[in-house]
Amino acid sequence: VSTDSDVTKREAESIAQNSLRSSSEKFEFQAEVSRLMDIIINSLYSNKDIFLRELISNASDALDKIMFLSLTDKEVLGEGDNAKLEILIKLDKEKKILSIRDRGIGMTKEDLIKNLGTIAKSGTSAFVEKMQASGDLNLIGQFGVGFYSVYLVADYVEVISKHNDDKQYVWESKADGSFGISEDTWNEPLGRGTEIRLHLRDEAKEYLDDNKLKELVKKYSEFINFPIYLWASKE
Ligand code: ADP
Ligand code: MG
Repeated sequence: VSTDSDVTKREAESIAQNSLRSSSEKFEFQAEVSRLMDIIINSLYSNKDIFLRELISNASDALDKIMFLSLTDKEVLGEGDNAKLEILIKLDKEKKILSIRDRGIGMTKEDLIKNLGTIAKSGTSAFVEKMQASGDLNLIGQFGVGFYSVYLVADYVEVISKHNDDKQYVWESKADGSFGISEDTWNEPLGRGTEIRLHLRDEAKEYLDDNKLKELVKKYSEFINFPIYLWASKE
C-alpha cells in the first residue's frame, strides 16, 4: 500500500536524480525539435521575457477554442470554476516554480505527444536556421514553436493537462532529447485546461519577483481577451 505522500516523495526523489518520473512513458523528440530545444537552452539571448508572452498566447488560444465549442454546445464548459474562462499565474518562491494555468480546451494524451514533441511544425527548421544566423529569438511565436521558449528560463518543465475527452496527463522534459508522459494520479484535478510548471533555472530567479511579473503580465496581456490573475506565495 502506498499513501499519497509516499508517491509524492518517490516522484520527488526520481526527479532529484536528474531523471524523469520512473513511472512515465518515454518518447524521443522529433530530431528538429530536439535541435531547436538544444539551441534555446544554450542560447545567450538576453530578452528571456518572451517566454511569458508565448505562454499567455497559448493559454488564450486554448480559451478561444473552448469558447468557440461552447457556442454550439454549452455543456463543454462544465460548471463552477470550470466554466470561468481565465488564466492564473502562480509563483512558488520556495520551490522556485512559476506556473501558468488556463481553463481552456486542454490536451488529450495524444495531443500532448503530438503537439509537444513528436510532430515538427513546418516552421521548425526555418526557425533553427534563422536563429543560428541572427541569434534572435523574438520571432519564435511566428514560426509555430513558441512553447519551447520556456527553456530560456527553465531546466525542467511539466505540462499538466485535462481535456474533456481524456484523463489528466503530465508531460515532462528536461530538454535532453526526450520527454515523459504519465497519467496524473498525484496533482489536484484541473477540471479542464492546462497548467505549465516552469522549474526556474538559477539565472532566472528574477521571474519569482511579484513586481517584475506584474509588469510583464501587463505588457503581454494588452491584446488578451481573458482575465489574468497573478498569485504569489509568501517568501
Ligand atoms: P503555436 O501556438 O504557434 O501552435 P506553440 O509552440 O506555442 O505553437 O504550441 C504548440 C502547440 O501546443 C499548440 O498549437 C497547441 O496545440 C499546444 N498547446 C500549447 N499550449 C497549450 C495550452 N495552454 N492549452 C492547449 N494546448 C496547448
Ligand atoms: Mg503559441
